[in-house]
Amino acid sequence: MRTNPDVLIIGGGLAGLAGALHLSKKGLKVVLIEKNTYPKHKVCGEYISNEILPYLLWLDIDVSKLHPASISKFEFTAQNGKTAKTRLPLGGFGVSRYELDHFLFQKAVENGCTIVTETVTDISFENDIFTITTSEEMLSAKIVLGAYGKRSNIDQVLSRDFISKKSPWLAVKGHYSGNFDEKLVALYNFQGGYCGVSKVENGIVNICYLADFETFKKYKNIEEYQKSVLYKNNKLKAVFENSTSLFEKPLTISQISFDRKEPVENHILMIGDTAGLIHPMCGNGMAMAIHSAKIASELVLDFYYGKIESRSELEKKYIQEWKKHFSKRLFFGRLLAKALKHKNFTHVMTTIAASIPSLLSVIIKQTHGRPITIE
Ligand SMILES: Cc1cc2nc3c(=O)[nH]c(=O)nc-3n(C[C@H](O)[C@H](O)[C@H](O)COP(=O)(O)OP(=O)(O)OC[C@H]3O[C@@H](n4cnc5c(N)ncnc54)[C@H](O)[C@@H]3O)c2cc1C
Repeated sequence: MRTNPDVLIIGGGLAGLAGALHLSKKGLKVVLIEKNTYPKHKVCGEYISNEILPYLLWLDIDVSKLHPASISKFEFTAQNGKTAKTRLPLGGFGVSRYELDHFLFQKAVENGCTIVTETVTDISFENDIFTITTSEEMLSAKIVLGAYGKRSNIDQVLSRDFISKKSPWLAVKGHYSGNFDEKLVALYNFQGGYCGVSKVENGIVNICYLADFETFKKYKNIEEYQKSVLYKNNKLKAVFENSTSLFEKPLTISQISFDRKEPVENHILMIGDTAGLIHPMCGNGMAMAIHSAKIASELVLDFYYGKIESRSELEKKYIQEWKKHFSKRLFFGRLLAKALKHKNFTHVMTTIAASIPSLLSVIIKQTHGRPITIE
């Protein structure tokens, strides 16, 4: 049997890996359990806001080594072809999850974290200790961070509210070769969804869209759906027609829920999408995942080193901090997504934003944070 860690993290995406890096850097013994091996492609737009750069550097993660695309411009194109453009207030970068998660994983191993490739199947909390069951073993820990993403078997184990409800959203992502402005992240609206296009490392173009299942299921396959629905936005059609797929077939995920979740469940501190997923068109889920790992890690360290005296104080502080940083962004994300479902409203708003670019900039600021400060 493995020796039990100070902190056990379930899930090794950006949130789990950032938490592992932070806690191990500060001397805690971390075990992270991830069901998949690295590197692996993930359904994601792969545009990351620069707000997390100072924190990544503090974690000794220099993303420039991955040769990301440096992104400074944003465009939104409505179905009628009207386009609103602005400069991104903070800017960002494009790097594939294939490279980025792998990079963080390698650094976590270097830091001495134990990474276990197993699936967590059960979790219980008794006498102030967690017991985690995987397909192969059982582990105990005083602190558990839930970083297992937007939807997992663990949500069922914990009987979380959102997991029993059907969600109307699915997503499709592919990597392509083709010409696309290296500095641009573009969002194209189409009936029942929106599609993000931007570059990642090595000139690769990421095309990733969120679609409503009701419209999608009327078509035989992804290609037919794209041609019948996405291509009605002529500018998006041109992007697809000028791109060649680098994947054998696109990656898909379904049942994407944007419902409210609790940041603490059964004494587990939830980080990243496990605590709440912002609509992807806001392009801020990755930064939020990393930022929430920072908030949780700092409080866990205070707990271990006696600045926070009880578990209930730890949980209360985490909920407060999480809400302070993310509640408003999630609210705006939901509001925006709702508004964009209405075609005429979207056309009018895009026309207005096209002539007042600062309006777009104001909207972007509502769904993004400020650069993360390190004390
Ligand atoms: C269509 C779409 C496009 C997006 N585009 C963008 C974008 O351009 N920019 C942006 O900032 N954000 C974007 N996002 C959001 C972003 O992808 C997420 O917010 C981010 O991936 C969250 O990271 P995470 O670490 O919380 O979760 P994840 O990256 O999903 O990691 C969770 C990990 O937990 C593991 N896991 C799950 N269950 C178990 C288990 N039982 N045992 C062990 N391991 C387990 C999984 O294998 C996974 O590796 C997009 C999201 C979607 C759906």
